[in-house]
Amino acid sequence: MKTISIIIPAYREEQNIPIIFETLRKILSSLSDKYDSEIIFVNDWSIDKTWDEILKLCKKNDNVKWLNLSRNFWHQQALTAGYMKASGDLIISMDADMQDPPILILKMIKKWEKWFEVVYARRIKRHDRFLKKYTAIAYYKLLANFSDTKIPRDVWDFRLIDKKVLKAFKKLKEKDRYIRWIFAWMWFKTTFVDYERPERFLWETSYTWRKMIKLAMDWILNFSTFPLKIWAIIGFFIIILSNIFFLYITYDFFINWADYPLYKWINVVLLWFMWLLFIFLWILWEYIWRIYNETRERPLYIISEKVNFK
Ligand code: UDP
Ligand code: MG
Repeated sequence: MKTISIIIPAYREEQNIPIIFETLRKILSSLSDKYDSEIIFVNDWSIDKTWDEILKLCKKNDNVKWLNLSRNFWHQQALTAGYMKASGDLIISMDADMQDPPILILKMIKKWEKWFEVVYARRIKRHDRFLKKYTAIAYYKLLANFSDTKIPRDVWDFRLIDKKVLKAFKKLKEKDRYIRWIFAWMWFKTTFVDYERPERFLWETSYTWRKMIKLAMDWILNFSTFPLKIWAIIGFFIIILSNIFFLYITYDFFINWADYPLYKWINVVLLWFMWLLFIFLWILWEYIWRIYNETRERPLYIISEKVNFK
């Protein structure tokens, strides 16, 4: 018997918990001839009744497990906490709010049974509200362009991973993490199942603007060197500008005998210093980037198969 672990981070989901559990229970019992299962709820310090709801389920079912975080650490950390405790052969992470239709699990497991190690649920259509929808699309576009890691589009944290992938994941110790990108970086044998993302079932989204901006920053800073390179671009632009300016006034001075006061010449000198500064900034940033890279201690590579090795 193989075991399925399901990880569900929950923040203020008191109404959703019984619903998602009931749905999952039905789906998992249809698989029970082949699979054992555990459902891990990670309560991200909700102050409503989420706590009681999960406890109630734990009392009735031994395969429901519960982690309670000591404060609100946010979704990504809650998810990490769940991953660290998952013990199954395949691990599925999903939201508590039914926006990740549990029925898809069946399709995902089929793919895993075939061969794949990472199965993403990919949204082909969104029913989110206008602003959220378009900011999300803009994020993807922006980040896909600027990131150094290839990232699959339109996937969020609804995914199935093999325990082998989980083992590799545990080795990545970076702090400001954006899990989706970590999985993208590791890659493995990846595939997708498509679905239409429904609207949030009950309650408002708990991702506030502040959280979304923090996430976007983490995305950019963890996976892109663009913010460093931009200084170099500005620097080179000023080099060209200052030299055009310099050539122009030299020409004017020698050919047209125009009279140039000292401050105009000083402007050129200032511009020269400016680009030096920008280039220097860029070099400095490159060093910082490397220091950052060293400290986050990512493995240099991850081996996915070994044959004939002891
Ligand atoms: N969540 C969490 N901690 C938070 C915010 C959200 O654990 O601080 C959980 C939430 O309960 C849900 C998932 O993360 O299961 C996704 O949150 P939400 O549905 O608000 O995000 P959206 O679907 O709008 O991206
Ligand atoms: Mg949601």
